[in-house]
Amino acid sequence: MNIKNNILETIGNTPMIRLNKVAKDIPATVLAKVDYFNPGNSIKDRMALKMVEVAEQEGKLKPGGTIIEGTSGNTGMGLALAAVVKGYKCIFVTTDKQSKEKADILKAVGAEVIVCPTNVMPEDPRSYYSVAARLAKEVPNSYHMNQYDNLANRLAHYETTGPEIWEQTGGKITHLICTAGTGGTIVGTAQYLKEKNPDVQIWAIDVYGSLLTKYFRTGEIDMNEVHPYISEGFGEDFVPKNYDMSVIDHFEQVTDKDGAVMARKLAREEGLFCGYSAGSCLQGLMQLKGKLKKDDVVVCIFHDHGSRYVAKIYNDQWMIERGFLDVKTFKDVISSRG
Ligand code: PMP
Repeated sequence: MNIKNNILETIGNTPMIRLNKVAKDIPATVLAKVDYFNPGNSIKDRMALKMVEVAEQEGKLKPGGTIIEGTSGNTGMGLALAAVVKGYKCIFVTTDKQSKEKADILKAVGAEVIVCPTNVMPEDPRSYYSVAARLAKEVPNSYHMNQYDNLANRLAHYETTGPEIWEQTGGKITHLICTAGTGGTIVGTAQYLKEKNPDVQIWAIDVYGSLLTKYFRTGEIDMNEVHPYISEGFGEDFVPKNYDMSVIDHFEQVTDKDGAVMARKLAREEGLFCGYSAGSCLQGLMQLKGKLKKDDVVVCIFHDHGSRYVAKIYNDQWMIERGFLDVKTFKDVISSRG
């Protein structure tokens, strides 16, 4: 018999898939680590499980306890799956920028979801960081996971994502391209890959409106860099503790429009129906393709599935309203369909 004892045992070991059409102008071999194959449809299942396991080992999460987290959805889904199997309750705090479907999905797996305003500073009492911290003090037998500063986040990628990529490429990987939010994915994966081969280049993809790129380049936390952006899941308005900038070689910023357009291209040309950040990741690679050579082996990490974005980047009207899709092109498409 070949049986998984519970859903958590299906986390990780996701496929590495060659990009063919979208990468045809790039001289290198371009591969995607497609992490929407995780049970919660995102890479965040890996770190959610690890954060729960570490909290249990450290006695911070006790039987019947409540998991509290500020999450845009994907971490919440991973935590909710772990909570269902292990018998914890979940309260998630999210922002009004995130897709409504993301909150509904979390409720479907038994979590309570509190929505906070997006455009307030992290230290504002209404921000989702502040609300999550306050709940952790007020709710009895609860633990605030804090994916930003909890180093179990990057540890999950050091222990799983990094080794899988190394093995799947037969140690031939030369470049890792990954969007950066909490930093857990890129830093943990990079720490492992650089240990195996210090020459592997690690390129972080950020969005305009996030302060991470300027911080990487200058060491300065410049709040003038921060402005609202539409892209979801990556970019930050502060520097989480999961960052170790010494394992990252380059930061590249992309626009909201370019990321969205590229995600749609990825779905239509490769059949990879991924989230917004996967489009941004690929767009970042396109901006950097001049640095690549024929023998390079490039791995892009695609964090989540497109189903969470059907009302957004995969909706033509939403794209047109933001100037991301040319109305003329759109009309041409409609008329060509008759
Ligand atoms: N893309 C998506 C869709 C995400 O949910 C996240 C996590 N916030 C990221 C990218 C960035 O990953 P990390 O937080 O590990 O830097």
